[in-house]
Amino acid sequence: MESIEQKLISRINEHATPLRIMHVCGTHERTISKYAIRDVISEDIQLLSGPGCPVCVTPAEDIDFAIALARSGKVITSFGDMMRVPGTLGSLFDARSEGCDVRMVYSIDDAIRIAEDNPTQEIVFFGIGFETTAPSNAAALLRGVPENFSILISHKLMPPAMEILTQDTIVDGFLAPGHVSTIIGTEPYEPISKKGFPIVVTGFEALDVLLGIAMIQNQIESGSSSVENAYPRAVNAEGNIKAREMMYQVFKQTDSEWRGIGIIENSGIALRTEFEQFDASNIHAEIYEKVLHDRKVSENDSDGTSLYEECMCAEILTARAQPSQCPFFAGRCSPEDPVGPCMVSLEGTCYNWYKYRHTK
Ligand code: SF4
Repeated sequence: MESIEQKLISRINEHATPLRIMHVCGTHERTISKYAIRDVISEDIQLLSGPGCPVCVTPAEDIDFAIALARSGKVITSFGDMMRVPGTLGSLFDARSEGCDVRMVYSIDDAIRIAEDNPTQEIVFFGIGFETTAPSNAAALLRGVPENFSILISHKLMPPAMEILTQDTIVDGFLAPGHVSTIIGTEPYEPISKKGFPIVVTGFEALDVLLGIAMIQNQIESGSSSVENAYPRAVNAEGNIKAREMMYQVFKQTDSEWRGIGIIENSGIALRTEFEQFDASNIHAEIYEKVLHDRKVSENDSDGTSLYEECMCAEILTARAQPSQCPFFAGRCSPEDPVGPCMVSLEGTCYNWYKYRHTK
């Protein structure tokens, strides 16, 4: 008897027309790569990987700032995969090898505990990620944190990035990220769908992804574009109102730099005035300004031929290239020795293509 997955694959392939469907979630890329979904559906349907890996879109200047803070004697606390992502002058792991105090944590609460246990040291938490991680950081600040604790804020908001991608990339529809949507709900995608882009909020099993593809196909076939929810077991229209209230009690929306994409209007968050005493870029403004200045100088002096500059993550994150088109893929660049951010994290496109040996 045919499984539901097989039925969906048959349905997708019977109705296949040239279609470019973008996901903006590292976990979707993992599912697609792991279950070889690109191999079982028609070649007419391209599954594009967008900027959905949090460490991949964290700008190099924030990594450089974290390294500069570590070198100036602050204790940097960070998620493990962020520590391995190279900035302009290496990674936080490299800084740790030099003797800097860089510690891996699993949450902001771990970082706060380190601050409480080390009252004479300055502890900085590297706050990255999308709408999924920002609320817990807001909650921690609302509960209260020690005076020797600050955050380097590098959070990103997904809908403004999707909006930009509809302008710069040839895309017909989106699989919207399940995790982010648990917080923001389905409503923020409405303006994008109204411009003619079908959007389906999708979960993370192979079956979920296949269903999302089939639902986008349905919309295209019927000439409609709306936001549909294929992940109702976790997502509703309103999202998590409480988490968002907490988030915007502490943060305000602001323009933000995305690695490989540039500045996207209203796509980031910054601490509100009442919480600015915990903002690492305010507290350590001198170090931050120096990092920005040094980056400007090195950009002007660069001849554009360093490995770092030749990495194609910018193209990968905007679906203008596939990992296998990068000359370093699976050679000079591997998960053991990554050249660019897309090869570091379990959510990185290059990492997943490498791990599952995808070539198309
Ligand atoms: Fe960058 Fe490595 Fe991916 Fe090439 S294979 S784009 S160098 S991360």
